[in-house]
Amino acid sequence: MLNIRIQFLKDEINKHNHNYYVNDNPTISDYEYDKLFAELKQIEADHPELITPDSPTQRVGSVSEKFLPFTHTHRLYSLDNTYNYEDLKDWYQKIQKEYGTDVELVCELKIDGLAIALTYENGIFTRGVTRGDGVTGEEITQNLKTIKAIPLKLKDNVNLDVRGEIYMPKTSFEKLNAENLEKGEKLFANPRNAAAGSLRQLDSSITAKRDLSMFTYTLVTEDLDNPPSTHYESIMYMKEQGFKVNPNIRLCKNADEAIEYCKEWENKRFDLDYATDGVVIKVNKVAIQEDLGFTARAPKWATAFKFPPEEISTVIESIELGVGKTGAITPVANFKPVQLAGSTVSRATLHNFDEIKRLDIKIGDTVLIKKAAEIIPKVIKVVDTPHHEDRPAYIPAKVCPACNKPLSTIEGEVNLYCTNSDCEGQLKAKIEYWVSKDAMDIDSLGPSIIEQLFSRGMVKTPADLYKLTIEDFMKLDLVKEKSATTLYESIQQSKSNPLKRFITALNIKNIGKETADILAREFGTLENLINADFNKLKEINGIGELTANEIVKFFKDKKNITLLNEFKVLGVEPEKAQQATSSLFKGMTFVLTGTLENMTRNQAGDIIKLHGGQTSSSVSKNTTYVLAGENAGSKLTKAQDLGIKILTEKDFLEMIGKEI
Ligand code: NAD
Repeated sequence: MLNIRIQFLKDEINKHNHNYYVNDNPTISDYEYDKLFAELKQIEADHPELITPDSPTQRVGSVSEKFLPFTHTHRLYSLDNTYNYEDLKDWYQKIQKEYGTDVELVCELKIDGLAIALTYENGIFTRGVTRGDGVTGEEITQNLKTIKAIPLKLKDNVNLDVRGEIYMPKTSFEKLNAENLEKGEKLFANPRNAAAGSLRQLDSSITAKRDLSMFTYTLVTEDLDNPPSTHYESIMYMKEQGFKVNPNIRLCKNADEAIEYCKEWENKRFDLDYATDGVVIKVNKVAIQEDLGFTARAPKWATAFKFPPEEISTVIESIELGVGKTGAITPVANFKPVQLAGSTVSRATLHNFDEIKRLDIKIGDTVLIKKAAEIIPKVIKVVDTPHHEDRPAYIPAKVCPACNKPLSTIEGEVNLYCTNSDCEGQLKAKIEYWVSKDAMDIDSLGPSIIEQLFSRGMVKTPADLYKLTIEDFMKLDLVKEKSATTLYESIQQSKSNPLKRFITALNIKNIGKETADILAREFGTLENLINADFNKLKEINGIGELTANEIVKFFKDKKNITLLNEFKVLGVEPEKAQQATSSLFKGMTFVLTGTLENMTRNQAGDIIKLHGGQTSSSVSKNTTYVLAGENAGSKLTKAQDLGIKILTEKDFLEMIGKEI
């Protein structure tokens, strides 16, 4: 029996290794793979006589045959991993038993890319090789030379090898997939696969076009006069020589501090522009590392704590349709509930019918889902699923799920729309949007109250909300006087909300909260915006012709004119917005990062806007300046990579004519 299970596990793991390392196309999540691997390791630990040299537990990775093989001068290992802190404490305690209580550790983010070994001779980059199976890798020097984060020449004329991780920034991965989607080419499942696929291109000009970078984390040298005696020193040495090292490395006194680091990064990692799947914890002292040595596949002086899974597979049980505030129909997948990144999930939007067709999703299929940067689950792809071909294709709906009226298409758009302006589903979605956090932020008015107001015919439009009395609310199920008063008061208070909130809440096509803010600052009052003509609108930085057209169309629409008049009569009068007082930063976009000393980032953003500039949350080639304070992270790195001008707080204050 055990032999059968072992063989099954070995075959499964080998199949997934091939999909992952050779085809760059995994069909199960890393978490599920790690579970299979842990089971095999446990059986082998209980029955050492069953370990064979070809067991995946005795080997690292896999070599593909695309490039010339190269035998590493020093082996590249994998890492043992765990998903729980108890194992981490056990690992540390074993080391403490041998080396005393004060064994220092270094914590580093585990970059989810692919390991590479680089060789420098007399300070010149001469060779780059993939990890492969740890003994033999593929020589890809030409491709690696296209990556700007890899120095071609070091500060000193030294002979050394380094190891690091090649990765693709998340934003570049999204962009690459969007381009591939447009061209009808293969989509990558995650940034790691995209990085691997980009790096192992036979034509290095393709690699050059992909945005790849590298963090260096291991120094191998027998040639230095004063070799670093700790891992931390070696990281600093590599930095000094010109390598890019991760800025979030931390020296920890013990396992408790290392666990604190892991907990801190479990959430903070989502702010980074690169994927991390855990934390690597390494013994700091080189002498202890050398003494501890290696197992068949991993160092004993290091271990990886893996974050809760961000990807997992599950079965699609049904596809439900919803109608949104614009009338767009959104299919939502209901799947077998699974634990993903710390919560149970059972639904994910499929966006539109084209997406269902592109992913070829059929009810009953097993799909891979993830919860990457966002908290919202997403279906990535259908995985090896029996009977997929035999199942009927999903047929898009022809009528609106809420009002049963026929659906229409809009030229140039993938969505199907319900164009019935009295559709109850749409009206309800508009009210839900009106009260939402980014719009009027009336948080006491939840979906169940809105549902009741609708089913009792008490509201149809957002203006109706302002006609409701405390007595009206008390007619609803489970609403007593106290909560009826809260509901009434929060609606009344929203009457004088800032103009940007009101513009957001109007639900004008293409206008989210950021564009609404630009419009509010530009026009100051709603009247000015209503009277603005197309030419004036299209000249505004960040608006453009398409959006300008939507704004003009919105304010000409009879229903909207009636709604706006009703608001006026009901006393809904948004607060005037502060308009720019100078044009110092006109046409410029700033990204703010890190901690500023003399003001908060919000205050700096307000100053920029008062001077006619704009702020953005992400760095791109359209960014004019990055204002970087203390502890600036990935935005600063990205700005440096893109050659964008970086301002210190002092530079910024000088620009606006203020001294510290
Ligand atoms: P690993 O990715 O778990 O850990 C070792 C690797 O971590 C090193 O080789 C290095 O590339 C990387 N790393 C990143 N940051 C590092 C840092 N700061 N210091 C040191 N190393 C760092 O091990 P592996 O052998 O590369 O791959 C095994 C893992 O790959 C599995 O645990 C699984 O998560 C995944 N995998 C998944 C599938 C699948 O089908 N989904 C198949 C095979 C492997």
